[in-house]
Amino acid sequence: MEIIEQRLRILRARINEAECNFGRPPGSVRLLAVSKAQPGTAIAAAFALGLNAFGENYFQEALAKQQELTHLPIEWHFIGKVQRNKTKTIARNFAWVHSLDRLDIAEKLNEYRPLVEVPLQVCIQVNVSGEESKSGVTGQTLFDLAHAVAKFPRLRLRGLMAIPAKADNFEQQRAAFQRVREMQQQLIAQGLTLDTLSMGMSSDLVAAIAEGATMVRVGTDIFGPRAQV
Ligand SMILES: *Cc1c(COP(=O)(O)O)cnc(C)c1O
Repeated sequence: MEIIEQRLRILRARINEAECNFGRPPGSVRLLAVSKAQPGTAIAAAFALGLNAFGENYFQEALAKQQELTHLPIEWHFIGKVQRNKTKTIARNFAWVHSLDRLDIAEKLNEYRPLVEVPLQVCIQVNVSGEESKSGVTGQTLFDLAHAVAKFPRLRLRGLMAIPAKADNFEQQRAAFQRVREMQQQLIAQGLTLDTLSMGMSSDLVAAIAEGATMVRVGTDIFGPRAQV
């Protein structure tokens, strides 16, 4: 707990400093704690330190921790690959999905989102570095998907999410995030109301904040190195 507290203090200072250095209003960057490969006890410790939004990549792992932590009012974010046969549970158990990149998945999430809940908050994942191994869409596919998703009543399209390829330096990191910001601006110019750029992780969050990230997804710099990825 003490080590998480220390890391969190350093991380929050880095975020505040980046907001200040790049002309972002204080508090404009939200911190999503990425808890994949971390036990429920670590999540509970981070929650006690004021974090309330947690991101998980793997469905089974996430569900087990949600069941363990039902007593805590955690806002759960799904940030991993969404499989079609998991859409029902994801639509019920998560407040956000950051990794939407297929229309058929969006349809299913919309269908299964319970009416008693607010709409599922979603970001579309963009493949900003053009890596074939990565999920995400770009170009016309992105624009078509965004306009289609924006029409679903049980989904609320908030913006874009990206995981750029590892870059050698700060300027290269920034260039990738700048492309994401520009895609978002194009979508806004086309009439969509978007307020979220989910970008930046432990190694590149300062560059992401410089380019307008509104939510950084941080695992290692809160919980320490993961046992296995
Ligand atoms: C693991 C992961 C993160 C956090 O990465 P760290 O380098 O540990 O901060 C953020 N986003 C996604 C999608 C991830 O899979």
